[in-house]
Amino acid sequence: MSDSDSKTTPKNFIRQIIDEDIQAGKNQGRVATRFPPEPNGYLHIGHAKSIVLNFGIAQDYDGTCNLRFDDTNPHKENLEFVEAIQQDVRWLGYDWADRLFFASDYFEQLYDFAVQLIQKGKAYVDDLSADDIRQYRGTLKEPGKNSPFRDRSVEENLGLFARMRAGEFPDGAKVLRAKIDMASPNINLRDPTIYRIRHGVVHHQTGAQWAIYPMYDFTHCLSDMLENITHSICTLEFEDHRPLYDWFLDELQTPCHPQQIEFSRLNLEYTVTSKRKLTELVDQGLVEGWDDPRMPTIAGLRRRGYTPQSIREFCRLIGVTKADNIVEMALLETCIRDDLNERAPRRMAVLHPLKVVLSNYPEETTEELTAANHPQDSGMGQRSIPFSRELYIDQADFEEIPPKKYKRLVPGGEVRLRNAYVIRCDEIIKDDQGNIVELRCSYDPDTLGKNPEGRKVKGVIHWVSAPHAVQAEVRLYDRLFTHPTPDATKDGSDYKDHINSDSLRTLTHCYLERSLEEAKAGEAFQFEREGYFCLDPMHQAGDLPVFNRTVTLRDTWAKIQ
Ligand code: ATP
Ligand code: MG
Repeated sequence: MSDSDSKTTPKNFIRQIIDEDIQAGKNQGRVATRFPPEPNGYLHIGHAKSIVLNFGIAQDYDGTCNLRFDDTNPHKENLEFVEAIQQDVRWLGYDWADRLFFASDYFEQLYDFAVQLIQKGKAYVDDLSADDIRQYRGTLKEPGKNSPFRDRSVEENLGLFARMRAGEFPDGAKVLRAKIDMASPNINLRDPTIYRIRHGVVHHQTGAQWAIYPMYDFTHCLSDMLENITHSICTLEFEDHRPLYDWFLDELQTPCHPQQIEFSRLNLEYTVTSKRKLTELVDQGLVEGWDDPRMPTIAGLRRRGYTPQSIREFCRLIGVTKADNIVEMALLETCIRDDLNERAPRRMAVLHPLKVVLSNYPEETTEELTAANHPQDSGMGQRSIPFSRELYIDQADFEEIPPKKYKRLVPGGEVRLRNAYVIRCDEIIKDDQGNIVELRCSYDPDTLGKNPEGRKVKGVIHWVSAPHAVQAEVRLYDRLFTHPTPDATKDGSDYKDHINSDSLRTLTHCYLERSLEEAKAGEAFQFEREGYFCLDPMHQAGDLPVFNRTVTLRDTWAKIQ
């Protein structure tokens, strides 16, 4: 499967670079990419952009894409995340074959590279505190100052670094730094830290064997190099780190020198895609979990009913550039709507039930009617739907005092029940408070599949047979935030101030047509006139089934704003 399956992927600037590299015979025409998540959270829609880009390039250029966990920060990482990330990449439709790697696989080699740098006089052990290191670093306007420990001899540095590894010094007592240039206009080159001491952490891959951990910048380029990556694609905030990426590889004279290429991150309206913030939402109980259907995580989107195809198509449409931008939520929704329009069978479901009794329909009788599963695709077959004397229709499909142009059921008026008969409303039954609790109607037996002679019935509404209905809970989701850019507001407010308190509406008394009894977890349906829904995969058998609304039938975003 390639990007969005049969459609061709536009030539973005990264693919152009790769084309030129192949033409020039660089890397013997080989293309090797990687997707390098840090296992400190679940993947989100922004990661999907990177996954589709990296795995998509590998597919289209007959290359490879590795899945590599960038696991150098053990206190924030764990195995739950390692497993969830693999599940999500696979679900998106990508396969890393036997190329699953961990940066921690290279800890021993990275240590040796650090020793080589020391031997070349290009790294030193510094005793300055973290605060002092920050002070000495200078600012964008002022150059930094050399640490008083910068000129330690190679022997002293080798000895101290070995003792750091042996666990002889407490956390923060020493670091290993690259010796580059404290006056560099690029702050990343002002003797960056490459190793720090971390006692007492149990790494999910390496256990407690290491007392020192390498920093990201040092680890990343060398991991790419060890895996023979050709094009190391990352987001724009690493542009200023590229000289450092190249410096390590040049100084260590590595046999392979991957090319770092940066592109702009995906930002999506009305949500946040920072893992720190998503973690906060989960940890503070502001959402149900990482897979809450309102979350922009892959797990949340999956539970909401998004398909891998729709997410890949979304990534294809947004393209890849170096320009920062914010993508409209409506685009993501269009992708899932278009996909489900084709593949989701139609069903009838009443979300706000109003009882209808057909006074002229025989009691104890059930008719089996048939209905097409898809209006355009006869290949999707038909299903049987029971019809009986007692039905439910939606409260919104009846008006006692109808507004102008109202085409649905009104007192004394007629409406067509979809896939069934025309009915007329004869009587309204109300409770003591004056609420409408039931309608008494009569049906016209001559109107199954044809119009009544000489009468125009404009409205068509959906319904279910009451004794056959499946009772269900239906969850309607709205955007998680009320602000289009919750983490970049002009007034500097906290993104959590913009959480939409109405982002979840739970309807506990919904009635679905009988065939939905057999719905499988995650299976998608169009509930006619209501939207696309899927059976919540987390729902336990025996409970009331829970259906999540994936998306409405039409774009309502424009209206909400
Ligand atoms: P965060 O800043 O939220 O912690 P991250 O970039 O640190 O995210 P990683 O796990 O390191 O998260 O990301 C793995 C890969 O996914 C990286 O190559 C990163 O550039 C890419 N990525 C992360 N977020 C986005 C995004 N919003 N758009 C495109 N690519 C992204
Ligand atoms: Mg990162």
